[in-house]
Amino acid sequence: MQVFFKTTIKGVIYMSDSAANKDYLKLHKEIAKQVNSLIDQVEFANLALIDGYLQEQVKQKKPIASVIDVPIDAKQFFGFVQQIAEISVGNQPHLQETMDAITTALKTTDETEKFIEATKCLNSYYFADFAERNSLNGAIVQFLAEMAYRPYIKALAKLLDEKVKFEGYNHNMCPVCGEKARLARGAEDGKREACCTRCDTVWEIQRLQCPHCKNEKHEDLKYIVAGDDENRKLYVCESCKGYIKIVNLKDQLGTPSFFIIDLETIHLDMVASQEGYGEEAESNSKVM
Ligand SMILES: [Zn+2]
Ligand SMILES: [Zn+2]
Repeated sequence: MQVFFKTTIKGVIYMSDSAANKDYLKLHKEIAKQVNSLIDQVEFANLALIDGYLQEQVKQKKPIASVIDVPIDAKQFFGFVQQIAEISVGNQPHLQETMDAITTALKTTDETEKFIEATKCLNSYYFADFAERNSLNGAIVQFLAEMAYRPYIKALAKLLDEKVKFEGYNHNMCPVCGEKARLARGAEDGKREACCTRCDTVWEIQRLQCPHCKNEKHEDLKYIVAGDDENRKLYVCESCKGYIKIVNLKDQLGTPSFFIIDLETIHLDMVASQEGYGEEAESNSKVM
């Protein structure tokens, strides 16, 4: 099966072939479910967090995960990699060889440590090098690394949610993990909240403003609805050509996974790209 993907720097893989969309969603939903089930296994016993220091990072708009060293147990991380690899192969058997090669290469503790460090700081040079050394596809390697890292970043976000306030932050990057805001939802009193698709952190953004360039000229800002679904639409900016997806989650049961909602609204990203919005239009690449 030949499938075309677009990748973002954070390793999320998008597919532009709608015929295989169902398989793709199923795989990612299974991975997301597994990631969420692993959060409770993560313990940050030795992580000293000073509330004032953390609050200062938010004020300076520095993602907290970039200024503290998130402790990761190499053995546990390797176990997470194996579990994500298993789910991937279960859904896409042609990935068997690739996944085996990655886990074999990681069996030396030394390599796992380097792999973890590269994952933390999104070092795509390391992944390109790792892929070349092992004759693999770099995008798949980085995707696997990112998914194994998610339980840690989500556990950190949960911990910080009780310690740090994000009021007045109003920025387009997640205050915890640094991911660019792709999704927002309506909140009480007509407010709007950005929802991190990577670590599930939620923070307030201005409703009548582009979250990326802060443009407030109403003639530059508009909604684009795809079909007749008013509950999921694009909010686009003519000034910077950026966009954010606005979703209505009022009817959503339980705690939503913003990663899944991001995947389920991928048609909106395609509409945005067709209409000339967003930066991902340039980076089409074939990876699996
Ligand atoms: Zn985040
Ligand atoms: Zn803008």
